[in-house]
Amino acid sequence: MRVLLVEDDESIAHGILAGLRAHGLTADKVGSAAQAEAALATSHCDVIILDLGLPDEDGMSLLHRLRAAGMALPVLILTARDAVEDRVAGLRAGADDYLLKPFDLNELVARLHALLRRAAGRSVDIIERGPLRLDPASGEVWLDGQAVILSRRELALLAALLQACGRILNADQLKDSLYHFNEEIESNALNVHIHHLRRKLGADLIETVRGLGYRIATVNP
Ligand code: CA
Repeated sequence: MRVLLVEDDESIAHGILAGLRAHGLTADKVGSAAQAEAALATSHCDVIILDLGLPDEDGMSLLHRLRAAGMALPVLILTARDAVEDRVAGLRAGADDYLLKPFDLNELVARLHALLRRAAGRSVDIIERGPLRLDPASGEVWLDGQAVILSRRELALLAALLQACGRILNADQLKDSLYHFNEEIESNALNVHIHHLRRKLGADLIETVRGLGYRIATVNP
């Protein structure tokens, strides 16, 4: 899961990013509404954490504008404002969830997973495909009931492919779910991770669609 954090307070942002990354999530931070719009226009993310008090625009009005433009990603508002009217206004503006500062990081992570699960139309958090099971929240993977150990990037790659439910993801989309904004990406890195996943989970797990990208192979009944 790739998270975009929109938060101008450096120390809060730093704590959240460190916490999300420690939970195995790919997370990036921007500090203003303008930067958030630029990031959304140029890179892929799965869920947005939005602070309301931003330096250039109120988070609520940013959200309103993004929703009006058709932005469908799940959004969790993070704020110190605890008035009921603010919460209602946030949900009306198109937020999917609301968390008050100060908050517990485990709760934030659990809510992000729940948002993503709802966005994917799943009611339980475990993703299954044939003999393969993935718990995105804990990062555990089983093949035929046996636990399989994956690296953080292999896990992120597998989760992105499984969550796409058989849709083709191109290399840029996959790289976006694996790397933070400023990370150096070696040109061959994606192929290497795909190769490792196939070796650990079966050669036919991930299908290469020539010229387009990759997808999770369909399971024969
Ligand atoms: Ca703020």
